Amino acid sequence: MRTSPDNGIASDNPEETNQSNSPILFQLPVDCRTDEGGTPDCLIQNYKDHDTTRTSFKDFSCGPRGYDGHTGTDFRVLDDKRYRDGIAVFAAADGRVSRIEGREPDGLYLENQPAAERRNPAGNVVLLQHDFGYRTLYAHLKKGSVTVEPGDYVKAGDVIGFVGLSGFTEFPHLHFEIRRKTARTEFVDPFSFQGNETCVEERSKKQRLWSDDNNPSLQYQDTRTKSGWLGEKPKSRELNNPDKPKVLLGQSDIAIYWVQSFHQTTEQELLLKIKDSSGNLLSKHQCAFESFKAQTLCFVGVRLSSLGLTGRNQDEILQKIYGEHELRSK
Ligand SMILES: [Zn+2]
Repeated sequence: MRTSPDNGIASDNPEETNQSNSPILFQLPVDCRTDEGGTPDCLIQNYKDHDTTRTSFKDFSCGPRGYDGHTGTDFRVLDDKRYRDGIAVFAAADGRVSRIEGREPDGLYLENQPAAERRNPAGNVVLLQHDFGYRTLYAHLKKGSVTVEPGDYVKAGDVIGFVGLSGFTEFPHLHFEIRRKTARTEFVDPFSFQGNETCVEERSKKQRLWSDDNNPSLQYQDTRTKSGWLGEKPKSRELNNPDKPKVLLGQSDIAIYWVQSFHQTTEQELLLKIKDSSGNLLSKHQCAFESFKAQTLCFVGVRLSSLGLTGRNQDEILQKIYGEHELRSK
């Protein structure tokens, strides 16, 4: 009887548990961690474009997660504190370093700098050369974080830098790209090894080039949210820069509870509420969108003076009020 890994029955035939007939497999290239509930602190914001026209996009599962012409996989990090501490980027396979760039500053794109000052779209990069004509590119690395030099040999899993905000990037992420040199250089999607023409069932693991395909960070995740408090109206650009100083809760008279959602569909809406410690509703707001959104921002606020909470710090305020949000079907 043939068994597949998908039906929960382990197969002892390596040809059936291994993803494809590729001579090379890649491991997760970034240090995403998974909480006790199995939720990773990264998400794949953009996949490689499988649409062959110049005007539209589809990911390997025919979904909308990405943009026209995207050549790699974008691993977005959601934990700001871990980002500031440094999230390691790993060599995805054994190889040799063929190129690095490490001096590009972080965050210029989010600072609205003129294009002329942003000379390098990929920012800080490492390019690795592997066997069988494969190369991997790691882009937008943090300034000064690249730990390898051209000519170095690395093993899969070696740290080669940290996730950053260099180059043309709107949020902290690793752009990971696989190239294969044949007659010309082609971009290979590790989620769909066999090419672009047909949509691949998401669970068709034989199409994949991942060595750790069951890693939660490599799954097609449900819509994710991220939330927090500020003492000012949030702007996406600033929220997307963990290094950017912000007006914190308690530093002004307004208390804003904000929620970002990622990959929100038209069937969903976000409902935000601020309540007092007795559960009484103080303020609410909902956000829905007419088209699929890679990223949204929704927020709701109250005045601290109206609640008698002036002059308290964030921890003290959050003993008196709390925020909750729900992503629900319309
Ligand atoms: Zn990218």
